[in-house]
Amino acid sequence: MRDDRRRTDEPRQEAASTLAAPELNADLKPDLNAALAGPAEWNFQWHDLTFTVRESARRKTVSLGLERDGQLLILAPANTPPGQLERLVTARQDWLYGKLAERASLSTSRREREYVSGEGFWHAGRSYRLLVRPAAESPVSAPLSLQGGRFRLHQEHADQGRALFTEWYAEHLHVWAEEQLRQLRPRLRVQPSRIRVTDLGHRWGACSAAHEVSLHWRVALLPRRMAEYVLLHELVHLEHHHHRAAFWDRLGVLLPDYLDRKGWLARHGADYDL
Ligand SMILES: [Zn+2]
Repeated sequence: MRDDRRRTDEPRQEAASTLAAPELNADLKPDLNAALAGPAEWNFQWHDLTFTVRESARRKTVSLGLERDGQLLILAPANTPPGQLERLVTARQDWLYGKLAERASLSTSRREREYVSGEGFWHAGRSYRLLVRPAAESPVSAPLSLQGGRFRLHQEHADQGRALFTEWYAEHLHVWAEEQLRQLRPRLRVQPSRIRVTDLGHRWGACSAAHEVSLHWRVALLPRRMAEYVLLHELVHLEHHHHRAAFWDRLGVLLPDYLDRKGWLARHGADYDL
């Protein structure tokens, strides 16, 4: 991944978005009536994604694109069978999710985070308001804590707000991930040597040749369903060090709805940051 704005760990695929023409019978003539009636439009659903299919008798190839307004558009010859669209979208999913992720991060204008009372901070998919208070009011508590539905930060540490939050997120995510792993172990064919939480830049997760699984501390901000996806994605990489079909098949066994989670993360992941 070369672009900072992309948030999954998948390498970017700059595949062309046009597939070869469907295998048309050589004798098949374009349907003149359909051509006269103008292009037909219908919706094609693939997991959580809805595509507008625009058919035209004059088209010979199927192409897939993401419009400026975010619409997913498929241009296809008349009467293209849904099975063919299914194969097209399946083959292009990495490219497609990459585009959706790019779009999501471009539309999120990042502003500098302020560590003042009233600011909202994510944890496990929920936003909590921050309360900055003099330490004297709670002398025994940690500089940063989450209590009673609020993040509480000692005033004299407000200038270290970012460091304290990243540390807090890392600690809590680590505890959560260890517990997840304890439950998952019996289902894993290859065990991780350890789980580390750190700053991974533009990646949500990573795994090393030494079977060490790393998670970005930002995963702590995500809804837990998405955190599960990131963790399982990396755990499956211990077995398959690539993103080919065998990898996704195995992930599908462990997490049957992984595609919906992956799609959600591509579109909304950029919003979960400090
Ligand atoms: Zn991966």
